[in-house]
Amino acid sequence: MTYEGIAASSGIGIGRAVLIKEQDLSYEAKAVSNVKEEIDRYNSALDKFKSDTSAKADELEKSVGAKEAEIIRGHILMITDPFMQSEIERLIGEGECAEKALETMCDMYAAMFSSTGDELTMQRVTDIEDIRKGMLSILLGRNETDIGDCPGGSVIVVKDLTPSMTAGIKKENIEAIVTETGGFTSHSAILARALEIPAVLSVSNITKLISDGEDIIVDGSSGSVINSPNPAQRADYEGRRSSFLEAKAALRNFVGKETKTADGVKLELCCNIGKPADAHNVIDCDGEGVGLFRTEFLFMDNTSLPSEEEQFEAYRKVAASMNGKPVIIRTLDIGGDKEIPYLGLEPEDNPFLGYRAVRYCLSRPDVYKPQLRALLRASAFGDVRIMAPLVTTVDEMRSVRALVEEIKSELDSEGVEYNKNIKIGAMAETAAAGVVPDLLARESDFFSIGTNDLTGYTMCVDRGNPKVAYLYSAYDPAVLRMIKNIITAGKNAGIPVGMCGEAAADPLLIPMLIAFGLDEYSVSPTSVLATRRTISLWSVNEAKTLAEKVMMLETEKEVKKALADAAMLQEKKGGNK
Ligand code: PEP
Ligand code: MG
Repeated sequence: MTYEGIAASSGIGIGRAVLIKEQDLSYEAKAVSNVKEEIDRYNSALDKFKSDTSAKADELEKSVGAKEAEIIRGHILMITDPFMQSEIERLIGEGECAEKALETMCDMYAAMFSSTGDELTMQRVTDIEDIRKGMLSILLGRNETDIGDCPGGSVIVVKDLTPSMTAGIKKENIEAIVTETGGFTSHSAILARALEIPAVLSVSNITKLISDGEDIIVDGSSGSVINSPNPAQRADYEGRRSSFLEAKAALRNFVGKETKTADGVKLELCCNIGKPADAHNVIDCDGEGVGLFRTEFLFMDNTSLPSEEEQFEAYRKVAASMNGKPVIIRTLDIGGDKEIPYLGLEPEDNPFLGYRAVRYCLSRPDVYKPQLRALLRASAFGDVRIMAPLVTTVDEMRSVRALVEEIKSELDSEGVEYNKNIKIGAMAETAAAGVVPDLLARESDFFSIGTNDLTGYTMCVDRGNPKVAYLYSAYDPAVLRMIKNIITAGKNAGIPVGMCGEAAADPLLIPMLIAFGLDEYSVSPTSVLATRRTISLWSVNEAKTLAEKVMMLETEKEVKKALADAAMLQEKKGGNK
């Protein structure tokens, strides 16, 4: 049988299923008579949880990386949050046993995170579940699930792969991972990609459909899972696995190389990051700078507004670790669907068209000024550039610049150092930006095209609505014209234009971007080498010839097909590059 799920980590895994059973964490909730004793019992479980988690984080840091270790270190912060602690003590004081009090609080946090509808915030539910399981197994004295003992050739089949479960993982023994939950950006997916283990997530009921020890094939590039494959299927996938591994090894040839078109035009290839710890990945993956640092995490990981100092430290860290390479930091892109309880934003009917990003920030100097001050101060430690999200009008850019000027005067009078020529750019991701990029270019030192939103705002499609997902495509002639307009306007105004949306790493679109004259590509660290390779396959003239033809096409389907055909031909021409 073939089952389908989300292709979350590319590659082919062929092996034997190891079914990870859910741990039995059932208990009988008893009323507590000695409150002090119960709080002490909870606190000693908490101490053990903290030391176990910190040991797991150290292990994960060695085996996978700093960013992944940060995920589980965050669990310690969550469980020791003063509000969590005082509420648990209050519930125990009211007679609940430690297990029950813990679960009441975990339920409350999980419900709060689930209600946002935002993918990033909803991931916190996995963290809460991980904390719940970890704490309960200590309180109940039961052993936690450990996948460290899986033999070679194992395919892990599990409901949800929690970060703490992966701490002791032996990468060489694991062929693939299959789960019942999680999306492309879930922790399971992030961990699988960091470990370079093929993974397919959200395959419904898979833990009931596969038996322990059964032969299984996992195609993490297409999202299929095949159990008990026949000999022909096995041979086919063995072939695919070899080709995948060969292509992956060939990418290593691009490490340390300049990013150039086939005719030698030098381009810039940077990375998108979401946390300061990700800066290591940029260096490890051979990125040439940071093209987008999403700063939302600083605000979402906190229970109150992060201070200027806290922000400064985070920005300084990234700037300093990039050794003079550019670091474009996007100011807070929050509001609307991304709810942060302490910001007190009211629910809106059309959050994507609402009070968010630069609109929110400009009306809240108490939130925006500390961030801009922190960014200016960090600019003394590296090539920090400021980028405003969701810009629609010239007035917005003027207001951002005016605020930056005001802060510069403050810093001057305080004798604080910063880069006086700091660049201030606009994220081009709204339909307005695609129509009047020439006007916005006069107020911007650079553009970075956010195709994720630009596609949504051009096609009038909510990114998360499956009913209209067929319209959400950067191959649509309308989106391509927007992209071309923005790049052309930037070139006419003499400012650099980058792209930090997903389209920058799309091998089909790259020749179009070369043809339009895009200067900088910002992609996830793991896509750096593949993007460098695709760029190297095309000369500017070849790309322009293709673009001329494609820009005459009328439908998304025609565009996609023309680009796919051209990419295939170019691959053949590029030989063994
Ligand atoms: C975009 O909109 O293309 C983008 C890069 O930003 P985000 O996905 O964070 O909205
Ligand atoms: Mg965006």
